[in-house]
Amino acid sequence: MRFGGKIGQSGAFVQCARCKKAIFRREFEQNLFVCQHCGFHQRVSATARIEMTFDEGSFQVLDTELASIDPLQFPEYRAKLEGAKEKTGQNDGVVSGLAKLDGRDVSVAVSDFTFMGGSMGSVAGEKITRTLERAADGGIAAIVFCASGGARMQEGLLSLMQMAKTTAAVERCRSAGAPYIAVFTDPTMAGVLAGYASVADVILAEPGAQVGFAGARVSKQAQVARVPDDFQTAEFCLRSGMIDRIVPRREMRATLSSLVRMLTAARL
Ligand SMILES: [Zn+2]
Repeated sequence: MRFGGKIGQSGAFVQCARCKKAIFRREFEQNLFVCQHCGFHQRVSATARIEMTFDEGSFQVLDTELASIDPLQFPEYRAKLEGAKEKTGQNDGVVSGLAKLDGRDVSVAVSDFTFMGGSMGSVAGEKITRTLERAADGGIAAIVFCASGGARMQEGLLSLMQMAKTTAAVERCRSAGAPYIAVFTDPTMAGVLAGYASVADVILAEPGAQVGFAGARVSKQAQVARVPDDFQTAEFCLRSGMIDRIVPRREMRATLSSLVRMLTAARL
């Protein structure tokens, strides 16, 4: 397996962000960027995610013509966009297209946190919408990997509109009987969580992923109630009934494949 995505460090060793132990880069990559000492799941690029999840060479990227403009003339937005494009080699924070999973067609969108915090502006919202519509039109499953700090503030109300637009697309998927599976990866927050992410038919999450509406700092400032130590984690959400299952990265491909097989077979 080959991973084209950047993981932020170079050299023969990488250091785990949680336990700080040194890990052979090669072993780390073979372990899908999960620390073998403490189980920490490092964030991965959209490219790496696609390569580790779907059938080799099957991903067909679509919607590449979409690029953000600067509708509000927001200070420094254009420069930030250009910087993010250069850093990631992508036009925006979501990569969308069609792929195969154990031979079955699936409509796919993968969010990349390294592109402006995976924030959802008009382009990300349109890509998610098209991903869900392709699933509805083709009668195939939609799989969306979420990784986002929320709506993109530089696009103001246009970003917030994406919450309604993507959620409406989920409904089209549902009407067509096409299953929609969301995977919460670190972090899945704010406008994305309150938009298309939370209304999936099946919600999986990676261990330790931060999941919540307001950020941790805002929540602490609000001091509305005592919250458990693991507040706003995938584990807390599982206990609260908000997600269906926590799936370690190594088991994600097989779990998604089983779900797609079961949910699409049930439609026949
Ligand atoms: Zn570790």
